[in-house]
Amino acid sequence: MVRVARVLPDSIAEELGIAAGTELISVNGRDLHDFLDWEFLAADDELIVEARQPDGEEILYEISRPEGEQLGVTLEPPNVRRCANRCEFCFIEGLPTGLRRNLYIRDDDYRLSFTYGNFATLSNVKEKDIARILEYRLSPLYVSVHATNWEARKVLLNNPRVPNIVEQLSRLAEGGIRFHCQMVVVPGLNDGKVLEESLQDLWNLGDAVLSAAVVPVGLTQFSHLYTGKSMDANAAATLLDDVARWSDRASRERGENWVYGSDELYLLAGRDLPPAEHYGDFSQIENGIGSVASLRSRVADGLEDLPRMDGSRIAVVTGKAMAVLMPPLLDALHDATGAEFELIVAESSLFGPTITTAGLLVGADIRRVLADRHDLTMALIPAETLNDDRIFLDDIAFDELRTSLPIPVFPSYDFIDFFASEAEAVAA
Ligand code: SF4
Repeated sequence: MVRVARVLPDSIAEELGIAAGTELISVNGRDLHDFLDWEFLAADDELIVEARQPDGEEILYEISRPEGEQLGVTLEPPNVRRCANRCEFCFIEGLPTGLRRNLYIRDDDYRLSFTYGNFATLSNVKEKDIARILEYRLSPLYVSVHATNWEARKVLLNNPRVPNIVEQLSRLAEGGIRFHCQMVVVPGLNDGKVLEESLQDLWNLGDAVLSAAVVPVGLTQFSHLYTGKSMDANAAATLLDDVARWSDRASRERGENWVYGSDELYLLAGRDLPPAEHYGDFSQIENGIGSVASLRSRVADGLEDLPRMDGSRIAVVTGKAMAVLMPPLLDALHDATGAEFELIVAESSLFGPTITTAGLLVGADIRRVLADRHDLTMALIPAETLNDDRIFLDDIAFDELRTSLPIPVFPSYDFIDFFASEAEAVAA
């Protein structure tokens, strides 16, 4: 059974009398267990939907849907499948206490992997889940592989019952499922020979593995489970060399780089980041693979159309990781707009100095660095610091922050988005 959260006005569902709270029990005789069942089973145009209204009345709807028309039903959010592993490097275990509850949910859910691109380990996938993945063709999936060597993977996931990932991926691949894989690398555990074996195994799966990402373990001062080494410049450089060897081979044999090191590895190793062309379709950009190259190319492409803002003084707030990369971008923005840019590097008060990612700054950090800056015209802050409800990780609302500061503040992903939508109005 799945429950309706909302019915769109003037939709088929509204016309039928389906309302918020209606329980949808089956479609064409098949029971509904979650949003995936609804999404796939209700895709037909001829439907018999068994439902229970909020007052308990059971109804059978016979629906003949005009082609392409939506039923107009939004479901209540699903119960997320929880993770059965206990990785020492788990970022959730590295969160400080006192944050909102849903931030502590350790999801490991193949359904969210397909729908939203969340990485899943497939450790908790049962036979019936495999059947669903194959039946519904949930592809591509984003899979946290970490190591294909079974013993190494048990150690990394801190779970002696993890299934053999090569067998799982092979079986799904035979059914036509494709994967984007990631290896979060813990120095001494899954680098070196273990990484080599992992890349070889994934390579052997052929076209089924669309991309592979190598990401350094990310720790905060609260990562209380972690007993391993942290990633340093030498380890990062070695990983990038391993990645380069495989991406050269992939480029020769498959015409694409296939395996990518995360931006963080390049920054740690002190190496230049590859250009945008290196990353193909940026399939793992949410994983920090090619974010900097993408930002650079979006800025370069957008410069031509920027409005003049001579006389404006604009602060750009970021974290330490991005700070070294910012000056050339801000110089280009200055040349295009005439505005003066000031880079303000803030530290995450929530996570401590080891976390330098701009997206993990919180409202209090931004308030701290801008509270006395009456001299500025405005400030741009990383849009990634806000969730969909425009709330920072420390529960400060963006609107609350904005009214408490002496200058206008704007969230921005790539500067160009700000100049395209807000700049002229602010300058006027
Ligand atoms: S798989 Fe590991 S890192 Fe991911 S949520 Fe579970 S314990 Fe945390």
